[in-house]
Parts: sequence; C-alpha cells; structure tokens
Amino acid sequence: MPDNPWERALSQLHSTALRLKLPPKLIARLEKPDNVIEVSVPVEMDDGREEVFHGYRIQHNNLLGPYKGGLRFHPKVDMDEVKALAFWMTIKNAIVDVPFGGGKGGITVDPKKLSAGELERLTRAFTRELAPSIGPNVDVPAPDVNTNAKIMAWIRDEYSKIVGTDSPAVVTGKPVGEGGSQGRTEATGLGGFYTLMEIIELIGRKHRDLTVAIQGFGNVGSFLAGYLKDAGFTVVALSDSKGGIYVARGITDLQAVAECKEQSGKLAGCYCVGSVCDLSNMELLGGRDTSSAEVLELPVDIVVPAALENAITKENADNIQASIVLEMANGPTTREADDILGKKHVLVIPDVLANSGGVAVSYFEWYQNMHEQEWTREDVFRKLREKMEEATRNVYATSQEYDVSLREAAYIVALKRLAE
Ligand code: NAD
Repeated sequence: MPDNPWERALSQLHSTALRLKLPPKLIARLEKPDNVIEVSVPVEMDDGREEVFHGYRIQHNNLLGPYKGGLRFHPKVDMDEVKALAFWMTIKNAIVDVPFGGGKGGITVDPKKLSAGELERLTRAFTRELAPSIGPNVDVPAPDVNTNAKIMAWIRDEYSKIVGTDSPAVVTGKPVGEGGSQGRTEATGLGGFYTLMEIIELIGRKHRDLTVAIQGFGNVGSFLAGYLKDAGFTVVALSDSKGGIYVARGITDLQAVAECKEQSGKLAGCYCVGSVCDLSNMELLGGRDTSSAEVLELPVDIVVPAALENAITKENADNIQASIVLEMANGPTTREADDILGKKHVLVIPDVLANSGGVAVSYFEWYQNMHEQEWTREDVFRKLREKMEEATRNVYATSQEYDVSLREAAYIVALKRLAE
C-alpha cells in the first residue's frame, strides 16, 4: 500500500523542524493549510446532461508571497494528494527563492474522456468557483498534469471577465503571445537538466555517455530527454501511462519518437533509431517494448521518475540499479523507498529542488505581466540557469554541512527561509 502523500509531507516537515528547533508557531502554521477550498463544478455535457465534478484548491501557506502552484486534471486527484502537493510548493518556492507561497488544485476528472468543448466549459466553470479566492496578488495557478497553456488562457479570460479588468497575472503557463513567458513550457525539464548537471559537477563525475531511463514522456519528461541527449547523455528508455520503449544503444531521434507517440497515441511500439520508427525492424534496431515499471529498474546510471507520485516504493526500490534518481515528478518516492535508496547509496535529487524550474519561470512570467515587460528566451534561460545552479549549490552545501541527504538538506534550506 503506497503511503499517503500528505502524511509523508508532514513527516518531512516534522523531522526537519526537530533538527532546526523551529518555533512551534511556525510548525503549527505549516502543518495545516491556510485555506482548503472544495467546490462542485456543474458542467453541461455535449449530450445535454449536466455532470457535476469535484474541484479543489489548497492554499497552503503565503508567508513568502501569493499562493502559487498548478492545477491537475486527473481521475485520482483527491484532497490529501492536493494538500501534499500544495505543501511541497511552499517548500519548493522557498528553495528556489521566489516570492511565492504554496498552493495546488485540481479536478477529479479524466480529461481524455471529455470533448474540447466540455473541457473548456469545465475549466471556465471551475474558474468561476475559484474566482473569489484567486488573483495576481492572492493565488496564482499554473499548469500541472493534464493541464496546459490553452487551459491557462481560458482561466485568464474567464477570471478577467469576472473582475472586469484584463488580469494576465492571475495564472502562469499561458501561451506566448497571450501573456505567457518565453521558455515556460520547457522550464521544468530544463531546470531539472541544470540541476543534474550541477550535481554531477559537484560530485566530480563526468556526464558524457551516462545512461538515462525516464518514466513519463509528457511535458517534463520529453523536454528533459531532449536536453540530456543534446548534452551527450544516452537516453535509453522512455515510458508513458501505456508502456514504453527501451533501446539499449540509445534513442537517437526523440522528435521521431514524439511524433510516433502523437500518431499512435502511445509510446509502446515507437522504436525509433535515426528517424525510422519501424516496428518490424525491432531486433535490428535493438529496441523492445518495456513497461512503465520496468523503466525504473533498468541497468542505467540515472533514473528519472517524471510521471506521478509513489512510483518508487518499498516493492521496487531494491531493484533500482541506477546510482542517481532525478525526481522530476512530485512525490515519486515513498518514505520506505527513500530509506532503501539511502542504504543503497543511491543519490536522490529531490523533487522540491529538481522540478522547481517550472515555478521559477512561472515567477518570471508573473513578474513580466505585473511590470508589463517581455523578456527574450535567452534572458529567461539565463535567469533560470542562475536560479537553479544557486539553489542546487545551496542544497548541496547544506547536505555537506549537516551530513544529510539532499532531500533533508532541501527541507533545511526551505524551512530556514520560512523561519526568517
Ligand atoms: P503531463 O501530463 O504532460 O505528462 C505526464 C506523463 O506521465 C504522460 O506521459 C503520462 O502518460 C505519463 N504517465 C502517467 N501515468 C504514468 C504511469 N503510471 N507510468 C508512466 N507514465 C505515466 O505532466 P507533466 O507536466 O509532464 O508532469 C509530470 C510530473 O512532473 C508530475 O508529477 C507533475 O506534478 C510534475 N511537475 C510538473 C511541472 C510542470 O511545469 N509541468 C512542474 C513541476 C512538477
């Protein structure tokens, strides 16, 4: 039974609070979200029926600035998951040093079963429910699993209608040209890449030819894969919710894989070497299908969970052969699994550091909207790189100073900042 993400978040808070002897008032404040918003969202479906969905927004903490965090549309979204994700946003924003607090939200829905019209009506109805509680200086949502720039544009539009003034800064992750920042789409994957490169340098390893397996080939996993390959890593395996591919000598044309997945609706079967995605040549190409679970256990140097929570549990942690786990998903490793990996001396680069590039560029987007500026892509990437490298060095130095894991060090950095 995978552990409950909210209980895990609390145990992370309590163990670091004890170490730092944090004031009880701060602990009490962080162990409960500031606000819990739960709404019913009635939507007219294409066949004329009205269906009622359940939506959440957790505003965990705003000590450092407006609540900030994504909206997830997924059948498994529930209150404890969203509470944990909101808490991790508070921690993440403190680590990457942006003036935001933590929030998260979502709707319990499988958006793949909705038509485009139903998805838009659901998003707009959810925005109407949330409108009294969000705003550029109050709470600023963003994309997460199964939400994207188009959905953010609907939220901005609906919210602006409600408040009677155009408010681009109410959400981030909007399309470029509609208030979105250059580089936001790539930001989480690119930020994870910068963090990994910095860690590899700090531990004195060379990155060329390190092999990588990535679970999750969505926004985060696909961009990360591209940056890794371009830098000389060998990406040998990728998976999505329906399975994956393993090409031991390296997946050379990620673009072809992405196009194949787009056309067939799944990664499995997309054996692309060069630009050839040829199922019948599987053996010749040295590729085979793999499962999403097996991807984590392959003989590689680096494993990247980039899908959902609880991917690495006590059942599979012992089977992990990689020496580095780069956590791009939020909460991919359970507590027991974390202990097992620690005992095996696997270096875990924690989610709250590794995937904070998304919120860093969300902050850049919000800042540009608030100050009516438009930064170039080069500017955004340079600032992102500086932020990620600084946060990574800070977490690494703290892990050395306290002789703790990178995860514990990340919580120390964040909670010290929140206590200031
Ligand atoms: P996405 O919806 O674009 O992609 C998710 C991917 O995971 C898809 O390829 C999906 O098929 C796959 N997936 C789902 N269940 C799976 C399973 N059981 N096994 C293997 N693959 C599975 O979402 P995303 O934006 O790429 O987010 C991925 C993770 O990164 C999430 O945990 C999210 O919270 C986290 N994250 C995202 C951002 C961001 O900016 N998008 C920022 C920080 C953290």
